[in-house]
Amino acid sequence: MNYQKIIYPNYIPDGRIRRLVEELLFNFNGKSIAEQTLPIPVEEIAEFHLGYSLNLDHLGDRFGFQDTFGFIDFDRKEIWIDSSLEPGVSPTGNEGRYLFTVSHEIGHDQLHRPFYDNRHIQKSLFDSEQPVDNDQPDAAIMCREKEKREPQEIQADLFASELLMPEVLIRQQFHEITNEIRRNPNRWAVEMMVTDELCRRFHTSKQAMEIRLDKLKLWHGLQGNRLILT
Ligand SMILES: [Zn+2]
Repeated sequence: MNYQKIIYPNYIPDGRIRRLVEELLFNFNGKSIAEQTLPIPVEEIAEFHLGYSLNLDHLGDRFGFQDTFGFIDFDRKEIWIDSSLEPGVSPTGNEGRYLFTVSHEIGHDQLHRPFYDNRHIQKSLFDSEQPVDNDQPDAAIMCREKEKREPQEIQADLFASELLMPEVLIRQQFHEITNEIRRNPNRWAVEMMVTDELCRRFHTSKQAMEIRLDKLKLWHGLQGNRLILT
């Protein structure tokens, strides 16, 4: 097999990632972001739209790195998720983290697979400079905690966040929920209730939702004990 490290871009603008998510959803069901119903069916998108098989296994044992949480093989069309994330089975598993990881792998497919598909062009461009890398088969990306801060991992996380929690839907749902409970005098309780309710509607983990709400600056509308919505 031909082994060569693919050169992925260090930077992909957020707007480009958002547009790729919009295109993916439109190609999947012909609807704009605002027309999507919740939760976004990321397993269906991976399996039936993109043609990947979704598999669970102990990836640490499988690949020899205990911090591996996901894996995508572009040639075999396989996505592997670590068993520790399996909802309802593993004590550390929950649906939010599992679906986020599936979405992260979809992100690699949408953002990075084109560079794999074009590797022959890349190879001829860089042939004299690029050493052959035997660490990783060129058809696959292994996702490890240790490499969480690598550009392609951050890009796949952002893609997952945009896919599972599209901005327009988060804003819409946020305002709907906060309107329902805007008279609650306890800001902390409001934050808890809103975040929990959003997680329930979007099928995400609390951590992923908090990161998303911070990025969208939605809490800035909450001042003191009063809800002032932006
Ligand atoms: Zn990854």
